[in-house]
This record gives sequence, C-alpha cells and structure tokens, in this order.
Amino acid sequence: MRSKILALEKIASQLEPSLTTRQHWTDVVTNYGNEFIEQIEEVPAYIETEDKGAGIYKVEIQEEGRPIEFLLSTFENEVDRPGLNPASGGHLAYIPGGGLFPAALGDYLASVTNRYAGIFFGSPGAVHLEHQLVKWMCRMIGYPDSALGHLSSGGSIANLTAIATARDAKLITADKIKKSVIYITEQVHHSIQKAIRIAGLNEAQIRYIPVDDRFRMNVSILKNTIEEDKVNGLIPFLLVASAGTTDTGAVDPLNDLADLAETHDLWFHVDGAYGGFFILCDEVAHLYKGIERSDSVTIDPHKGMFLPYGTGAVLMKDIEAVQNTHYYLANYMQDTVNSNEETSPADISPELTKHFRGARMWFSLQLFGVKAFRAALDEKIWLCRYFYSEIAKRGFETGPEPELSVCIYRYVPEYGDANEFNTELVSMVRKDGRVFLSSTTIKGVVWIRLAVLSFRSHLRTIDLALKVLDEKVPQLQTHYKKSTSTS
Ligand SMILES: *Cc1c(COP(=O)(O)O)cnc(C)c1O
Repeated sequence: MRSKILALEKIASQLEPSLTTRQHWTDVVTNYGNEFIEQIEEVPAYIETEDKGAGIYKVEIQEEGRPIEFLLSTFENEVDRPGLNPASGGHLAYIPGGGLFPAALGDYLASVTNRYAGIFFGSPGAVHLEHQLVKWMCRMIGYPDSALGHLSSGGSIANLTAIATARDAKLITADKIKKSVIYITEQVHHSIQKAIRIAGLNEAQIRYIPVDDRFRMNVSILKNTIEEDKVNGLIPFLLVASAGTTDTGAVDPLNDLADLAETHDLWFHVDGAYGGFFILCDEVAHLYKGIERSDSVTIDPHKGMFLPYGTGAVLMKDIEAVQNTHYYLANYMQDTVNSNEETSPADISPELTKHFRGARMWFSLQLFGVKAFRAALDEKIWLCRYFYSEIAKRGFETGPEPELSVCIYRYVPEYGDANEFNTELVSMVRKDGRVFLSSTTIKGVVWIRLAVLSFRSHLRTIDLALKVLDEKVPQLQTHYKKSTSTS
C-alpha cells in the first residue's frame, strides 16, 4: 500500500511546481500582462473574429499538461482578441469595466495564500480586512457604525441579498405575497426584477411608478399609489430607488423617497451599483442626500472603483435583519461559533466559501488612496458633460443633461427611419472598433448611450469618439439618401 501511495504522490506532486518553474510561469504571465497594458491605447475597443474564440475547443483538455507559452498564445488569440475589450478606455458602452493593476496583485496573493474569507474563525484577518472595506463604504454613504454588509460577486447578488432580506424583515410570508406591493420604475436595472422572482416574490404587486423628464421616480405619483394601495387593503413593503440608473445615470429623489418609506414603513433599497461611488465627488454629492436613510444599498466596486469583474457589495443598516435571512449553522461547522465576536460574511450572504475579494480592493485602495479615485470619478463626470455639449453642437438630439457619467443622444436623419439610423450608426462604430458604444430603447425611441467609467477614458478618448461619429454620420446619411432616392 505504501509503495502505491508513493507512486501516486510522484505524479500528484506535479501540482506543486518547483521554484524555477513558478518563476518562469510568473515571468511569462507578468510579461504578457505588462505588454497588454503598454499596448492598451493602440488596440481596438472591439474586435470581431470569424469563429468568435471557438478555437479554444481545439486545445482539448488532455491527460498531459501543456507548456505555458502555448497556452498563453491560445489565450491571447481565442480569449483576449475577440469581442469587447473592457480594459480599454475606448469602452464607452453599457457600464464600462475596470482592471486596476493592484487588483491583480491582490488576487495573486488571495489565490496563493487562499485565505478563507467566509468565516471569521477561519481567517479573522481576511474578514477584518473585508469589514474595513465595507465599513469604509458604509461611512461614505452616511450609515451608522453599526451598519455592515459584504462583498458580493456583483450588483445582482447584492440586490438579491437585499430584496430577500426585505421580504423577511417585513414578514411577507407566502400567504401575504399576492397582497404585498413593490414600488420600482421602468428604469430599474433588470437584476431587480430577477431578484424579485428569485426571492419568490413574482406574485407580488409590482407598481411601475412613472418617471419625470429626467427619468427619476415621480414622488407625488408614488405617494398617491401607496395611499391607494393601503386603502385597498394591500401591503406596501418595498421601495427600490436607483442612484444612477444604468440607462441614463438618473438619480431618483432619494430624500423624498426616504420620507415616504418612513411614513409607510417600507423597506427602502437603493441600487447604486453603477453610481454609488460618485457620492465621493463634491460636484454631485448633493444628489445622494437621503441615501443614508435607506435600509440597504447596492454598490459595485467593479464599476465605480474600476476593479476587475467580480467585486460588488451590499451595505445593510440592520445587520440582524440580513442575518435572519441568511444565517444557518451546519452541524459540521459547529466549532466555528466559538469564535464569533465578528460577523462572518457567510452569515449575511447566500455564499459560504467565496473568493477573497477584499484583497484586490484593499491593495488598490491602500496603494492609491481615495484622492486618486475621487479625481478619476470627477474626470468621468466632466468628460460626459463635455461630450454632451459637443454632440449637441453637431446637431444630435440629446436626452436630459447628464447627472453622472452617462448620457443619451441620437441623430435624427433627413431621410429614413431614425431608430434604424441610430441602430445602424452604433453597429458601424462597433465594426470600426476604435471606440465601443451601445444603444438603448426608451419609450420606443432608440438612443445611443455614452457611458464613461473606465479609469482609462480621458479627454483624448472622448475626442476620438466624437471623431468616429463625425466620420460615420455623413457616410450613413449618404447611404440613406441613395436608398430613398432609388426606392
Ligand atoms: C450593473 C448594474 C447592476 C448589476 O450589477 P452586476 O454587478 O452586473 O451584477 C445592478 N444595478 C445597476 C444600476 C447596475 O448598473
């Protein structure tokens, strides 16, 4: 038996490569990363390849390992090339992604040391580190010291955590679901509707409160609707506001909404996945007045703090409420409760074992300091304002003035259908690839969006976007003119 085990050990030991091998792999990979960053301004924001990365299947998973150089070139061609480049400053669509370099170092250490950040007993230091970050965000939005939360994979899971908590805190049991009422707008992020469904609340009454001309929830209609619902014997229990809608960056009137939530005893959730960190900027901080009166907030460091994907957060004023929904003690983990002087992330989250996400955020925030982040966010606000005024000068129709770093605009052509024209325009810009833009449809009208949130988007990026549009509009107009005169 011993010799059999030793023979297996010999093969299994390949999983622990030597120092020389580790250094070689690290060198090759960091060289690749450094090269990637050095070239980031030159490579397109979007590339379409023929097989869309399907070549990855040709490198089959096999019994024997393969050399790192081969794998890296496969990764480069099949994974890094096709599609959208979220690390590029030219990514001005959806909500742009980040990729701060220190995050990679944090991830490296989180992977090598593999600290268990789910349970305080397991890695008190890792949990303290994550709590430090969560408490920093809680203070930023004006929550009391007793507030806490956790780092989630993103805004969707953060919204789900908050909505499931709201359901239980407001005692919405199965018999009450059909009579319970949730208030949102058409502009909420779709992860809210998803969370409502996953939390078993699909049969609740969902009221879509109309928005004003800047896409913010209409407070007086909300007030009337809640009062009417109460008169009709329904149970209003949840109000979801957006602090920065994804479509247009609109911030709902949080303080007025907090008044109504308080009067009617509603759980008040603010989705700040996109916009939450702009509260750091003096320029727009006033828009967030009232966020501190909410019960829960979603905020995405992988958006407003430019971290790589997989870093969201939910902040909770009442830790007991979130614990009531998410706590469970398994028998096999009974030893861990002897050391529970700190809340464990696993007790306030659907997740148990999780990536030690705090490391990437902690190194980034501590190496750079808050000032650099605030300046970058301020820069994004001003870049969006600059674009908005420039695009209006060019004869585009513009949506409302941007509140944060997203704006909408469209070109109304002399010939042809405007929706088709703008859809085609976005597709031409995408094929061009120098910058990446996306569109949205609001009340049947197609708008092009500009969303500035990459730490790599600067004045020259916005000038490039304007230049690309300056080139494409006349081309498309000529095309439409021809097609209307021939038909
Ligand atoms: C992006 C976004 C979400 C979803 O967050 P993920 O991190 O993508 O899961 C939720 N709400 C808003 C307002 C968003 O912009």
